[in-house]
Amino acid sequence: MTRIILIFCAAILAYGQNGLAVSDFGTVAEPENHAVAVDRLMRYHDSGEYESQIRQVVNSAAVYLRERAMRGPAEKMAAVFDIDETSLSNWDVMADCGFCAYKFQAKRAGEAIAPTLELFNFAKSLGVYVFFVTGRQNKERADTMKNLTDVGYSGWTDLYMQTDGTTDPARIFKPRNRRDIESKGYRVVLSIGDQASDLAGCCAERVFKVPNPFYLVK
Ligand SMILES: [Mg+2]
Repeated sequence: MTRIILIFCAAILAYGQNGLAVSDFGTVAEPENHAVAVDRLMRYHDSGEYESQIRQVVNSAAVYLRERAMRGPAEKMAAVFDIDETSLSNWDVMADCGFCAYKFQAKRAGEAIAPTLELFNFAKSLGVYVFFVTGRQNKERADTMKNLTDVGYSGWTDLYMQTDGTTDPARIFKPRNRRDIESKGYRVVLSIGDQASDLAGCCAERVFKVPNPFYLVK
């Protein structure tokens, strides 16, 4: 009899007023808390792992580029570099607001991502023509060129930006820009970016993706 009463009491305690099991509260599989995710990304950056992983990718790109240049092309070789989070870092802007947005303002001034700047100079030393292809719009051209120059990028062949007001996704306009480069007699042997959309589609012999867990560009 005592056992039956205990089971009955347990059943009452287990259910709330609306028929919900009390044990359901606090046990649902909710997504990771935003603050926890932000903290994890900050540690990924501050520990040096972020730059270390970029360097791993860039080193692979350099090994490939040297081998590709030695093979010797008849055509002019080109390398395509993305800008944001590939060549220039927006870390201060991102971290300041807990990765709240990735549509940064004009007149931003990012630091060079050191391994990428080394790859840029290495490509030039091999006689490879370097092009920047970015989702930034043409109204940012002067500021972007100044930023690139100020942090050490110089001697690039061309800078492809998007027409002001256009909304084509990167996976559409970036292949279009690479195709245009090839239409001018270059052979795109390398493309490097931080987004899959930087690298999708036409016109690159090899692609290299540096890490970016901070935002997504489709
Ligand atoms: Mg980018």
